[in-house]
Amino acid sequence: MSYSASNQDDDIRRAAQTLLSARYVMALTGAGISVESGIPPFRGPGGLWTKYGEPPMNGYQIFLQNPKKAWEERLNPQGPSKIIWETVGSAEPNAGHHAFAELEKMGILQCLITQNVDNLHKRAGSQKLVEIHGNYTLIRCIECNSRYPGSEVPLHNLPPQCPKCNGMLKSDTVSFGEPIPPDALDACYSETQLCDCFIVAGTSATVYPAASFPLAVRQKGGTLIEINLYESEITPLCQFSLRGPSAEVMPKLIAAIKELRQ
Ligand SMILES: [Zn+2]
Repeated sequence: MSYSASNQDDDIRRAAQTLLSARYVMALTGAGISVESGIPPFRGPGGLWTKYGEPPMNGYQIFLQNPKKAWEERLNPQGPSKIIWETVGSAEPNAGHHAFAELEKMGILQCLITQNVDNLHKRAGSQKLVEIHGNYTLIRCIECNSRYPGSEVPLHNLPPQCPKCNGMLKSDTVSFGEPIPPDALDACYSETQLCDCFIVAGTSATVYPAASFPLAVRQKGGTLIEINLYESEITPLCQFSLRGPSAEVMPKLIAAIKELRQ
């Protein structure tokens, strides 16, 4: 179904009204919002993994078998992971990232879950943020889940050790085969219990466990608002499907909320 501009303006106004009357608003973002900042997707034509090689499906087990080697590969200046993270690091937050941060400052958005590891939500100012697949700028202890900025961790002895518990340190980005860090998962579950309105932006919400959070809210009668360029698997469950890039739709939504609040 194609939307005329006036139809979408009407939808945006009604979605804004729904956000204003909701008790506890959450959001989930995925690769779409990163692509809008110029970060190539991982898969598909031009994708980072398509170009530099797909990480192994048992990456976490390989890490555990030989963490020193895994660290050396990560730090290799000519290695694919260095190139990939430099590409990611050169991106800037876009209007969509800034709008999510503003929605939080306005007291409306209570928790933002992102599947993205690119640090752009944090750079845009989001604070109530759960980075469910980690953050590429951070290093995490696999024992106690403490996280440290990459620049602060001495790397002369590999693998580096946690200053708090001597546990092994790994990049915070969740590898294939690695469980979602329990603290991140627990936060998602407890926040979702409070939530009655969920924005799903730039993701088809098919990757578990992230997908289960909006679905749980829908099942208990909450409202789902989708922001995506295309229809996706979650579209039939959404009360509002706002077609377009987050960097365009989110600022319109914020403007509509401000207008209603006047
Ligand atoms: Zn530790």
